[in-house]
Amino acid sequence: MIGIYSNLYYPTRWVPLKRRGLGWHRCCKVYEEHECAASCGLAEGKTLEVVLDVKGCNLNCKYCWGWKMRLENNELRKTPEEVVKDILCQIEKVSKDGLVKKRNYRVGIVRFTGNEPSLQWEHVVEVLKLLDKSGEAEKLKVIIETNGILAGMGKIDFQKLESIENLKVDVDVSFKGVNYEQFEWLSSMPGKLFAYQIEGFVRMFDYFEGNEKISVNPVLGINHEENYCVRRNRKEYFMKVEIIDAKGNKLDFYDYSKDFEELVLSRKELRYDEAPFREYFGINKNRARFVVAVVYKGKRYLNTLPSEVVELFEENS
Ligand code: SF4
Repeated sequence: MIGIYSNLYYPTRWVPLKRRGLGWHRCCKVYEEHECAASCGLAEGKTLEVVLDVKGCNLNCKYCWGWKMRLENNELRKTPEEVVKDILCQIEKVSKDGLVKKRNYRVGIVRFTGNEPSLQWEHVVEVLKLLDKSGEAEKLKVIIETNGILAGMGKIDFQKLESIENLKVDVDVSFKGVNYEQFEWLSSMPGKLFAYQIEGFVRMFDYFEGNEKISVNPVLGINHEENYCVRRNRKEYFMKVEIIDAKGNKLDFYDYSKDFEELVLSRKELRYDEAPFREYFGINKNRARFVVAVVYKGKRYLNTLPSEVVELFEENS
């Protein structure tokens, strides 16, 4: 079962490792110069993660951080065996690094992300089964970031995760807003698909409830923290970044639809991963502008990205 990946980033995307290179310098070159599906980044605290960026999605979010991955980047096709080999190779190399050892960092997470992993569900499950048999399994948590739509439609066999014995698995259902209008605006897709997001979460949550290894979590799938700092030419520009609707009004991510409240929040608290909107390399700036307003020095810039506000300010000062 072949999986399709696409990574715009470096196989060592954690800056301290990328800078060093050392004996495994090949991993510090741009992704397209070699064919590794695994990339190492910092998750949180002292925990590093191996990231797998799958290619292809059934939504078209305006703010999509993986837009270039979806629509521009080349495909990297891999068997489950090849993917596991890449994961284990990354873990081995990172774990041997002097800086990692000295500062007590360790690889604790493998993350399926990028675009939408459920579009290649059979492949993902095969990768997990193989990884589950590896010597690393008991030290790892796998995070699968999904929009949950195919699970809600009954089109993937998520029950297959049950055969995993040693890995911990988190299925993070990434909600594109908290009501139908927000979903439609942010994802550029019919609002009725939001009901499938909800249904996907509910089905998976109820199925795995009480399972010690598998956890299903609702997550707000858009960075929205207001406070933001652009660093440029050794200067820092502090601003507020708002996620806005088509009329330029700030979106309220506590304005839940009734069914979201009754079906999702009654089961588990929504996780708000607090981070501001970012101009990732992989976004489409023309589309992302639609959902962003910046407040800087008392002035509100509608449909303008943070870096563009800084450019305007520098031009005029
Ligand atoms: S943000 Fe995620 S769900 Fe939305 S289009 Fe991009 S890859 Fe798909």
